[in-house]
Amino acid sequence: MTKVDVAIIGGGVIGASIAWHLLELKPDLAVAIIEKDPSYQESSTPRSAGGIRRLFTKEVHIRLSQYSLEIYRNFSRTLGQEISFRPYGYLFLARKESWPSLKAAHDLQRSLGVTAELLSPAQIREIIPELKVDDLEGGLYGRGDGYMDPYAVMQGYLRRAKEKGALYLEDEATSFVLEGGSIRGVGLASGKEIQASAVVNAGGAWGADLSRRMGYPLPVVPLPRQVFVLQPGIPFQNHLPLTIDPTGVYFREEGQKIIAGYSEEREPSFELTWDPRFFEEHIWPVLAERAPNLEALRLERGWAGIYDDHIHDHSALLGPHPELQGYYVALGFSGHGLQHAPAVGIGMAEWILRGAPQTVDLTPLTVERLWTKNWVREEAIV
Ligand SMILES: Cc1cc2nc3c(=O)[nH]c(=O)nc-3n(C[C@H](O)[C@H](O)[C@H](O)COP(=O)(O)OP(=O)(O)OC[C@H]3O[C@@H](n4cnc5c(N)ncnc54)[C@H](O)[C@@H]3O)c2cc1C
Repeated sequence: MTKVDVAIIGGGVIGASIAWHLLELKPDLAVAIIEKDPSYQESSTPRSAGGIRRLFTKEVHIRLSQYSLEIYRNFSRTLGQEISFRPYGYLFLARKESWPSLKAAHDLQRSLGVTAELLSPAQIREIIPELKVDDLEGGLYGRGDGYMDPYAVMQGYLRRAKEKGALYLEDEATSFVLEGGSIRGVGLASGKEIQASAVVNAGGAWGADLSRRMGYPLPVVPLPRQVFVLQPGIPFQNHLPLTIDPTGVYFREEGQKIIAGYSEEREPSFELTWDPRFFEEHIWPVLAERAPNLEALRLERGWAGIYDDHIHDHSALLGPHPELQGYYVALGFSGHGLQHAPAVGIGMAEWILRGAPQTVDLTPLTVERLWTKNWVREEAIV
């Protein structure tokens, strides 16, 4: 039996960030990260598109992104890990019908200090000269937003957490050790047990299942999402921001190539296959219409990954579980967990060690809102 102060289930970007922040705040803390698949074959982090934007519609998400963007901009200096951050921006395109909601989001973002810009169709073409804009009312541009290498971020946090003494256990958490209304540790598939006074469920798309089996159901489901890599017939002249068409199809630069995706309606599942026909039928026609230089392209490959979708409001569930002393949750990121990992890491560490998040206010995202129903319905889900 191993005894630690905090056991973290899941060594993806969220678990790794929480571990590192815990040890930053309290270097003598004993922290264990339990990861069932150290190759991360199916984990969401390495399958992410790597984007970070401040263009959200809810204050808490904007603040999480503002904090995290600063961390990512300086990651190689502060964490000693190169994450290939590319500040090429985010650009939401809008037709007449969605223009008012884009303007409302812009007002909120500006009021919180985000340098978001509303662009006319002509200004959009200054950024992407190839784009067809005659059906557009305008765009919302997040200059300085961008994308990075998700695997490098995760490895950066993991490496530094291990250097600071975190135990990394290759095992699966299969049960909770309970005692008088409190969690006291976790049981592992190997038959071992980890004793801990705090247990964090950062198990991504798999985390809700373990919680349900232990009697603490959470409304988080696995949603498959596909990403496609293509070689454009004619390259874009300028660096391409992550651009979201009014249809929901998004595309961005990836070196000399383009990656594209679309959050289609799916039944919850852990399906990890990708379908070239889906690209041909649903994505390619949108790309060819929006950017004529993409009419001729070569689909090179693709992949699928899983969102851990919080079905009520598509916003994470964070902090202590109100029904089980010592049980902390960091799940339900609904497609924006990578970009919020730094803010979630510091906030969760403060919650565990100091009783409340201090650096970034995570309290609108408490698990408690499953009872209060104070939903944080995010409209800008990509
Ligand atoms: C296609 C796609 C595109 C995305 N694009 C973006 C984007 O552009 N920007 C953005 O911010 N986010 C994006 N995301 C979302 C982002 O990837 C996730 O929100 C984030 O990676 C979640 O990190 P995590 O650590 O919670 O989950 P994971 O990375 O899945 O890590 C959880 C880990 O827990 C382990 N685990 C689970 N249960 C157990 C157990 N019982 N015992 C031991 N280990 C366990 C798993 O093996 C896994 O490694 C995207 C996701 C996908 C799928």
